[in-house]
Amino acid sequence: MEKVRAENKGYFGEFGGSFVPEDLQTVMNELEQQFLRYKDDPEFIEEYKYYLREYIGRENPLTYAENLTERIGGAKIYLKREDLNHTGAHKINNAIGQILLAKRMGVKRIIAETGAGQHGVATATACAMFGMECVIYMGKLDTERQALNVFRMELLGAKVVPVSKGQGRLKDAVDEALGDLVQNYKNTFYLLGSAVGPHPYPTMVKHFQAIISEESKRQILEKEGKLPTAVIACAGGGSNAIGAFAHYIDEEDVRLIGVEPAEAPTLSEGVPAVIHGFKCLTLLDEKGDPKPTYSIAAGLDYPGVGPEHSYLKTSGRGEYVTVTGQVALDAFLLLSKTEGIIPALESSHAVAYAVKLAKELTADDLLIVNLSGRGDKDVEQVFGMLKNKENN
Ligand SMILES: *Cc1c(COP(=O)(O)O)cnc(C)c1O
Repeated sequence: MEKVRAENKGYFGEFGGSFVPEDLQTVMNELEQQFLRYKDDPEFIEEYKYYLREYIGRENPLTYAENLTERIGGAKIYLKREDLNHTGAHKINNAIGQILLAKRMGVKRIIAETGAGQHGVATATACAMFGMECVIYMGKLDTERQALNVFRMELLGAKVVPVSKGQGRLKDAVDEALGDLVQNYKNTFYLLGSAVGPHPYPTMVKHFQAIISEESKRQILEKEGKLPTAVIACAGGGSNAIGAFAHYIDEEDVRLIGVEPAEAPTLSEGVPAVIHGFKCLTLLDEKGDPKPTYSIAAGLDYPGVGPEHSYLKTSGRGEYVTVTGQVALDAFLLLSKTEGIIPALESSHAVAYAVKLAKELTADDLLIVNLSGRGDKDVEQVFGMLKNKENN
């Protein structure tokens, strides 16, 4: 995408902004207006809360992982159970929020991009619920690797468009979706899945995911009468992490810890650059292009990250660490055995770091791990990985 200009809003330090062509900027300005108009509107909030409760099944619990805590020794570990949401992850919080906004804007057609398919499924689900036309752009390669998720989206009534341009990957799907939006903006809403992209998306996605920490803060105060030592969440684009951090950012004694895959260490090793219409810490190759990454957790496989995380990192408010796929896999197995909870491979990165940190702390310390999703989607992949290991 050509970089035409930066709007002077939606900045977190030097990060964020909106670097998009003029015609797309007009659409972003309108979206910002509508978001600002409705986000504090009591009727809008009431409707959002209604669907959170009646459709997603919130509030979800903050579960004390007693067996895990006893096994590890050290800090008490609590799990924020986004895995118990309808569709099995945090993404639906944002999908419902944005679709309610689209409804207020009088739009009937929703488009989205998806890589592994999880955001596509959440979007298709919300569209079925609200009777919206749904078009999902997906790299051709990804449609082949994720055939079952394509079928899932189709079951939900969505049209999945395979994109063969470029490398047939997520980036190409994003470009197609943006092209569609510019063409059809009058009746179309682009539902973005993570806290990335041009302003106002990072701010809007944070707003709808902040329900995670709104609940967890109330819950930990009820259970323990004090705030946690640290909140730990995995970071791909950064939406579950920013939602899990939001209500603690001003609580300076609470450590905010984002966990990245060692195979895609955007915040740990990235440099400031503009990708996909916004500025963030980014992994670049020698030619200055976004670097292909590979994580065992498809949802964490992104060379950029949300602008607010980039700012939390450079300002020192947030801590960002890495965990390898192997260590995340061990945590996946450990949580399944000790607590009877199979975590998503993405969330397993956060669990892995919590296990490491808990040992260094005392029983007076509380850790909240954001369990962003359930691992049912990953069981087949883990089966394959364990089998491979046996054979080697
Ligand atoms: C998509 C996904 C993620 C990564 O996305 P973020 O925007 O970084 O939260 C993490 N966990 C699960 C279960 C996911 O589906």
